[in-house]
Amino acid sequence: MAPLPERILIVGGGVFGLSTAQSLSKRHPNSQVTLIEASPTIPNPHGSSVDSSRIIRADYSHPTYAKLAAEATDLWRRSEWGRDGRYTQNGLLLVYPDGDSTAKDYTTKSYHNVKGLGEHVQLLPTKRDVLRAAPAYGETLNVAGGYVNWSSGWANAEAGVRFAKQKLDEQGKVRFITREVISLLFSETDNHTVTGVVLADKTNITADLVILATGAWTAALVDLRGRAVSTGQAIAYMRISDEEQRRLEKMPTILNFATGIFIIPPRNNVLKIARHAYGYHNPKAIPVPGSRTGETMRVSLPETGVPIPLEGEIAFRTALKQLLPTFADRPFTDTRICWYTDTPKGDFIVTAHPSYPRLFLATGGSGHAYKFFPVIGDKVVDALEGTLAPELQDLWAWPEAVDEGKFEGTEDGSRSGEKRLLLLEELAKTRRAGRAGVL
Ligand SMILES: Cc1cc2nc3c(=O)[nH]c(=O)nc-3n(C[C@H](O)[C@H](O)[C@H](O)COP(=O)(O)OP(=O)(O)OC[C@H]3O[C@@H](n4cnc5c(N)ncnc54)[C@H](O)[C@@H]3O)c2cc1C
Repeated sequence: MAPLPERILIVGGGVFGLSTAQSLSKRHPNSQVTLIEASPTIPNPHGSSVDSSRIIRADYSHPTYAKLAAEATDLWRRSEWGRDGRYTQNGLLLVYPDGDSTAKDYTTKSYHNVKGLGEHVQLLPTKRDVLRAAPAYGETLNVAGGYVNWSSGWANAEAGVRFAKQKLDEQGKVRFITREVISLLFSETDNHTVTGVVLADKTNITADLVILATGAWTAALVDLRGRAVSTGQAIAYMRISDEEQRRLEKMPTILNFATGIFIIPPRNNVLKIARHAYGYHNPKAIPVPGSRTGETMRVSLPETGVPIPLEGEIAFRTALKQLLPTFADRPFTDTRICWYTDTPKGDFIVTAHPSYPRLFLATGGSGHAYKFFPVIGDKVVDALEGTLAPELQDLWAWPEAVDEGKFEGTEDGSRSGEKRLLLLEELAKTRRAGRAGVL
């Protein structure tokens, strides 16, 4: 096991950053760990890790993720991670419509993986079986089949982040700084070795190792072109009555890989509908990180505080007409674009930077990292120590760059929808259509 350097700086207070801080302080109590977060608060309301809910499932078509997710789910179920309403085991219904071989293939592989892991699964070969398993969903549902995994559930995402931060505060080993990092700090002698970070007020913070856990904002700090792209995903929330809450709260979460639409059971009279798709791009011209020649690049970066475009609302209303028709025309009380850090194959990036000594990345969540909150930090520390399991090392290595022109988002069989939708263009179309934003 390689010894770790003394002064370690983590940038980012989401799932990757907080979980890594937790594991470092447990396994390397003598290291001085500092975590820098741009948001004035952790939980950061605009961070990907913060929302009303996230699906906790081992239902993956890839056996390595299925196995790791089963370990994480077990902790959500049995340890303090899942207590006080942070985890609810309601089941997950994975469905595919007629004629969609990609969605059927993902679902079938996933079924065999979770069955092999001993989870409580039930194959639903016909539409009738699907509706019998989840009668709350409408008769008009366009499905050909699927399966339900009663061992899956969902987490209160914001509460999970609050819990992790509170634990770190109680242990008192990690120092927190709430400031924005504007760039990495490089050694003056070789221009490549990372020696710390520069904050927005131009203060330097030096360290022996910098870990970027900056999610969808990482592309502003290191050049990730062709390796990761930030994509915006639509979410909408609506208020429901007490009676509707009671009717829907025990239903399984539904995830349709053909449309990417998923509905997690409501809590506190709020129903959420979201889409796991190729997502919106938001290209911005920014300096190439580390460049001394003033070179610029265009990369997609998060836009926060904007409503979902009309295109997203139409997709949600179409899905609701099929799934829960009585809610199809009800106004949304809030909408949000939440940002994924998408890698070409949906694999995380948990590795040293190949060109910058003393820089490590823990990111690339690709829309599915939340469930790993209880275990991901340990894997990051394994990678730092050089003891990460070979199959994870392979999956989470520095990704081969794909041709930027062809890189439209993650291709792991779980994505759907139109490719390369431009967020600002879609919002402009929404305004032209006479809607001030979908609320
Ligand atoms: C709509 C949506 C639905 C999802 N559903 C699921 C699901 O059902 N199940 C599941 O497992 N996963 C799901 N995910 C994915 C999961 O939530 C993410 O993969 C995970 O939360 C990513 O964590 P992170 O730490 O990389 O990013 P974040 O939580 O965004 O954390 C990064 C932090 O870094 C900070 N930061 C960035 N740049 C700087 C800087 N320069 N200086 C200082 N701080 C900085 C940011 O402010 C932010 O707080 C979903 C994601 C979204 C958006």
